[in-house]
Amino acid sequence: MASPTLVVEPWDVPSQRQAVAVLRGAVERSEVSHAWALVGPADVGQEAATRWLAAALNCGAMLPPCGGCDICRRCLRGAYPALREFAPTGAMYRVDEVREQWLRTAFHTPSEGTWKVLRIAHADRMNEAAANAFLKGLEEPPPRTVWVLEVTDPDELPDTILSRCRVVRFSGWGADELDAEARRLGLDDATERALAVRAAMGSPRALRRLALPQGRDDLRAHRSIPSRLRDEGPAFALTAARALDDEVKRRTAALRAEGRAEIETVAERSGDELPRGVAKQMTERLARREREVRVVTLHAALDDLLGWLRDCLLVGAGGDPAAAVNADAAELLRRDAEALGPRRLLRACDLVLATRDDLELNVQQGLALEALLLQLSALMLDQTAETPSG
Ligand SMILES: [Zn+2]
Repeated sequence: MASPTLVVEPWDVPSQRQAVAVLRGAVERSEVSHAWALVGPADVGQEAATRWLAAALNCGAMLPPCGGCDICRRCLRGAYPALREFAPTGAMYRVDEVREQWLRTAFHTPSEGTWKVLRIAHADRMNEAAANAFLKGLEEPPPRTVWVLEVTDPDELPDTILSRCRVVRFSGWGADELDAEARRLGLDDATERALAVRAAMGSPRALRRLALPQGRDDLRAHRSIPSRLRDEGPAFALTAARALDDEVKRRTAALRAEGRAEIETVAERSGDELPRGVAKQMTERLARREREVRVVTLHAALDDLLGWLRDCLLVGAGGDPAAAVNADAAELLRRDAEALGPRRLLRACDLVLATRDDLELNVQQGLALEALLLQLSALMLDQTAETPSG
């Protein structure tokens, strides 16, 4: 999320020069496609790019958008009437969300703004009925309306939709950009910064977590799960599940406090009388973000664990520990690699990946994690799974 700085460079979207050049060029040549698919890993700058697109199309100043006027600032905050952002309320978008929210907004004149920009986060999470309903809106585009679909996995989106969009590729951040960002976030210690940059694996969102001491403590806790399961047995599976649950609670509590403060600020600005519709909308948005944070936190934890298991495979196969994500813990890597062996490590990776997929659906997250950790524990202690090889 962009920080509310006062002086901004137009189209300031770190690490996405090519993608931004495409969007910016389209605006400056007045060749704005009515539908875009921003394809790439989640949250690497799509939000900022889309908000700049809305600013560029609506800013009263000449091109490029000034970034500093009231319209630009509200676009960049995601708080401009002609810019609407949608995220799934459940695991998938439902057809009624598409009809009653997206399409209604698309065919409705906003209270302010000349160009509507409709940002669809996780657009690859439409079920078939939702995709069919959306296709109608794409086939008969209302004037001055731009759809921006964020797509992580293009295979999950019907060709009929993708073929009607102009595709722009977004990529993960490079190590240099992540390193610069980590410095900006105040991570001065070179060893800790190197760990954060490697473990972020191209994701600025992951880096923001890892730039905090708590984030790296969490990472260290996640990667110690295999050895502790081995040493402490199934009892640790439940301890680890509780710790993950606490981690989620910690993050959602922070978000909730932030959201409440935001609602209060808006109420103050409107003279203490927040219209009921606005309050409801903000509360719903907060609930959506909480759900998202819960999934993102658990995904991050499983990614840390997966990164560790992969490192063990690498080291076990004779690879250089210095090339591992967890290069700072070479000794523990060697120990886990030797104790577990490749077959058990691969099986553990499969279990983690399957749970990662389950979390996307609306399964009971706490139970899914507990089940995973118990399965891992059984695997770690199963002497028949693999005889440790030297
Ligand atoms: Zn402006």
